Amino acid sequence: MPLSRFPRINLSHLPTPLEPLSRLSRELEGPEIYVKRDDCTGLATGGNKVRKLEFLLGDALANNCDTIMTIGGLQSNHARQTAAAAAKLGLKCELFLVDIPGTPREGYGTNGNILLDRLLGAKVNILHADTSPLSAMEMRASAIEQAGGKPYIIPMGGSNGIGSLGYVDCAFELVKQWREKELDFDYIVMATGSCGTQAGMLAGLAMQDVSIPVIGVSVLANEAEQKARLRPVADETCDLLDLPHFPDDQVICNGNYFYPSYGVPNESTLEAVSLLARTEALLLDPVYTGKGMAGLIDLVRQGIFTKNDRVLFLHTGGQAALFPYESMLID
Ligand SMILES: *Cc1c(COP(=O)(O)O)cnc(C)c1O
Repeated sequence: MPLSRFPRINLSHLPTPLEPLSRLSRELEGPEIYVKRDDCTGLATGGNKVRKLEFLLGDALANNCDTIMTIGGLQSNHARQTAAAAAKLGLKCELFLVDIPGTPREGYGTNGNILLDRLLGAKVNILHADTSPLSAMEMRASAIEQAGGKPYIIPMGGSNGIGSLGYVDCAFELVKQWREKELDFDYIVMATGSCGTQAGMLAGLAMQDVSIPVIGVSVLANEAEQKARLRPVADETCDLLDLPHFPDDQVICNGNYFYPSYGVPNESTLEAVSLLARTEALLLDPVYTGKGMAGLIDLVRQGIFTKNDRVLFLHTGGQAALFPYESMLID
């Protein structure tokens, strides 16, 4: 296995299932749609960050670190999965979480992921929307070091070269699964934010000479900004694996579904969350996968994906954030 030289810790339930969404396909009268259930990676309600954390915490332990630190929004799924991984390995965890303007007020700072962060024993530092969580974390990291501790800082979303290896691994798992089932996919669609998931998937598919479009539906920025965000993460991932860097035209970021802003759902997001719950009992979330699926649904309605296509949706998790969004989900 090409990843065996990287330190890794087993934290997840793998392989995650690959399942058809037959009722959704019929409802949309469109392509055959399948879902890769990375919401089922296990570890305190799961999600895509668990795969990244297997490599990030492998690296942390290889470097004898004792305190895991990261940043995110108040309802960060990444922060919650980091808190869970640290708890499981008996490491300390400190989170630096910022409030997100435009999100619901009731429960946003107490329920969902932040409730789990606290239950999992992480030290939660809550910061105002206009303060930099990065500098607060770095200051605290120096204080820990001065006191003789060894912090390990994980960037936003776990998205650097090492974290992305989790999705290189996922690309191998996925292609093996679809070959066993004799399914060939024409497209992969996923929500993308800090880009490690898409970068890893692109690298992992390239290593297997699979060249289908991987459509990253942005949850926070327009196409140009999102492509610029992906570039350094993808380059770092390719460097770790001795792969050539991807040309810009191989990277697809769709910026049509994130509006109005990160963490704030629009009508198409809420429609996607509701439709998938009612047709497939599949729980999406209002921040990431609801926007990703809204993109998939709209591309079917626009006729970009046709009846002859087979489309894979990568479910990256996030259900814990449904609860603090109660007021937006139900009228
Ligand atoms: C973090 C996250 C994503 C985006 O993954 P990136 O690697 O940050 O692009 C998508 N869905 C969910 C539920 C997430 O928590």
